[in-house]
Amino acid sequence: MSADGALVLFSGGQDSAVCLAWALDRYPHVETLGIAYGQRHDVELSQRRIVLDHMRRAFPKWAEKLGPDHEIALPEFGRISETALTREAEIEMTAAGLPSTFVPGRNLLFLVYAAAVAYRRGISTLVAGMCETDYSGYPDCRNDTIRAQEQAIALGLDKPFSIQTPLMYVDKAGTWAMADELGGSALVELIREDTHTCYLGDRTHRHDWGWGCGTCPACELRANGWKSWQASKSG
Ligand code: ZN
Repeated sequence: MSADGALVLFSGGQDSAVCLAWALDRYPHVETLGIAYGQRHDVELSQRRIVLDHMRRAFPKWAEKLGPDHEIALPEFGRISETALTREAEIEMTAAGLPSTFVPGRNLLFLVYAAAVAYRRGISTLVAGMCETDYSGYPDCRNDTIRAQEQAIALGLDKPFSIQTPLMYVDKAGTWAMADELGGSALVELIREDTHTCYLGDRTHRHDWGWGCGTCPACELRANGWKSWQASKSG
């Protein structure tokens, strides 16, 4: 346990893998948390252990800092939140102007669970991949929401508490660039091959940017980010 460690919300996706690398670059001790809530793409959760394992092997200096991995199952939450991420449904825009992949309250709930785990582990910093740059417009990814929740958690736990969101103002091309800065081509390769982003849980189609169906909104974002990062390097 460490007073200046961090707990990373680590789903096994691209964003949270970059957040994990960011944390390992900065904090002396880092633990990880995965949450199963009945998501359709639960292949993401099986990839998370593979990513952790490969990160330990490829980056010995990070392996020394990487502490226990925690997993929480919240199946009840998947039952409450009927969305395109938790049941078989079309991914589309809803009347509320949000994609049907929006899971109401998800990030709010996850941060509270993460804070509870962190508290027990003597950790007062959470690192999470929320980002308000990309199209999706999820209201619980906005910086205002996160800052308000940071304050609520600090008050509710009666101790200083911080939520770090290194990707908040970074677009998907910037996320690839950040991976390259933090861990060079070895980390970029690891993220391409092992992390999972596709909403449909597809790991049968391999693209330049990694595995996925190639057409869902998550695949499109990841693919477009990859393309613009490649273009910025050659241009
Ligand atoms: Zn996809």
